Amino acid sequence: MRSITLLAVSKGQPASRLESALALGLTQFGENYLDEALGKISALAGTAAEWHFIGRLQGNKTRPVAEHFSWVHGVDRERIARRLSEQRSARAAPLNVCVQVNIAGEASKSGVSAAEALPLLHAIRPLPRLRLRGLMCMLPFDLPATEQHRHFAALRGLLETANAQGLGLDTLSMGMSDDLEAAVAEGASIVRIGTALFGRRPQ
Ligand SMILES: *Cc1c(COP(=O)(O)O)cnc(C)c1O
Repeated sequence: MRSITLLAVSKGQPASRLESALALGLTQFGENYLDEALGKISALAGTAAEWHFIGRLQGNKTRPVAEHFSWVHGVDRERIARRLSEQRSARAAPLNVCVQVNIAGEASKSGVSAAEALPLLHAIRPLPRLRLRGLMCMLPFDLPATEQHRHFAALRGLLETANAQGLGLDTLSMGMSDDLEAAVAEGASIVRIGTALFGRRPQ
């Protein structure tokens, strides 16, 4: 049986709500905004919480991410990966990373194209302090379900191609509140859910 990790996307939520989620057994939290995340990470220090950085990562912000998170979803440049590897402490477990793919080919979205993904994966694989886990994508909102399925299936196909080249990936980080069902049907291993768990984010 395949198991799927529910990543609770807690951006915009106060630490008290994360404590409630922890009490219900959720341990994996996804955050986009570094300063906001660092406050919650220190507030929840000593708990079972594990932190996934899911936002856009700027080159000058890699150090706190390398120091405080277990996962980075959304690496799309080799330079960022190199910095994360250099900055990850030798005492910590390797940092888990996924490469973000702009699978729907949207203009102005982060992520590499499907064609760029394989060379980037091969470049990241040998970095010593990273553990390359797989691929991540984010689809445009309000796509018809058939389109959601098509894009998620394409990401899975890319993972299979990468594994045929010996990359040994085990993670498809795909599916949010609006496209969760299609992502699960197409093989998601981590779904990143905010609104459907916590309700609308406070402003
Ligand atoms: C905000 C966010 C999510 C969660 O979105 P919801 O629609 O609230 O479930 C998932 N992934 C990323 C990268 C996000 O920025």
